[in-house]
Amino acid sequence: EDENMVPEEVEFEKALRPLSFDDFAGQQKVVDNIKVFVLAAKRREEPLDHVLLHGPPGLGKTTLSHIISNELGASIKITSGPVLDKPGDLAGLLTNLESGDVLFIDEIHRLNAVVEEYLYSAMEDYKIDIMLDSGPNARSVQIGLNPFTLIGATTRSGLLTSPLRARFGINARLEYYDSDLLANIVKRSSAILNTPIDDNAALELARRSRGTPRIANNLLRRTRDFAQIKGNGTITKAIADMALEALDVDANGLDEMDNRILSTIINKFKGGPVGLTTIATACSEEADTIEEVYEPFLIKEGYIKRTSRGRECTELAYKHLKIVPPTRMG
Ligand code: ADP
Repeated sequence: EDENMVPEEVEFEKALRPLSFDDFAGQQKVVDNIKVFVLAAKRREEPLDHVLLHGPPGLGKTTLSHIISNELGASIKITSGPVLDKPGDLAGLLTNLESGDVLFIDEIHRLNAVVEEYLYSAMEDYKIDIMLDSGPNARSVQIGLNPFTLIGATTRSGLLTSPLRARFGINARLEYYDSDLLANIVKRSSAILNTPIDDNAALELARRSRGTPRIANNLLRRTRDFAQIKGNGTITKAIADMALEALDVDANGLDEMDNRILSTIINKFKGGPVGLTTIATACSEEADTIEEVYEPFLIKEGYIKRTSRGRECTELAYKHLKIVPPTRMG
């Protein structure tokens, strides 16, 4: 879970989280492949190969990992890169896994180097070497582990070391969702929350959710409050518009950093082309984060183009920021 989520949000996410492949909308190709790998592993009575899931936050990496463990009939233990501070933390988790269990490590790119080393032999041979004592009495003992599946999730696949990356047999990238899929997710969620919603209201929430189910569900939750207090409980298009306006959600669902990136390219660099690291410095954000978290959505929606000389804003970006484009754009 995101470390900045409040408990209420965690509960809410749990309630809305799909539990089977059938409830998991979209990502068709990834899901179809994983279904095959899961079935094959079950048939051979072997653990599923280690899985690396990458993609921007809120697209369903944690959800998919739960589903995989359900479908395997296995338990899932959940941790994250920053939490695994010492090799002993990892050893404790690994030695407690039953045969076929799933260990989910969120933000796996943030594992520290020592812990990561331990993971190599665990992943490859289901063994770990533990150091006993220190100084002249130091010796290491090897401990055998039950065969298990590691699922690593990352928003920043570029930051994974190559030895770690090489140890994942299955590698899948989750993509942003289109509005129709998100509208279906919103409708499913409102049914779970016992809140009626009109189709055009669901589509409006979907359109303004940055292609991200977590954002769509969060907007739904807030909009439901407006429906109950300012309406008759049903989320109509008018209620959705009122809520989105009150919540300052951008007309196209772009968030603050998206807008900062666009206005930086336009106002400071004449619309580009400008290099990624230059944009990053000007926006006070890491280049990797811009490349892996923000830019994919801005490119997919047609606000930015990648050219050989850097990033360039499109006419759509000017329109979005209500700035008159230079004449070269017609
Ligand atoms: P990530 O781990 O990639 O940050 P999560 O798996 O935590 O994202 O997803 C966030 C929320 O979005 C989940 O609680 C779930 O309700 C919803 N969600 C994500 N993907 C889907 C999907 N494909 N279908 C329906 N709901 C989804």
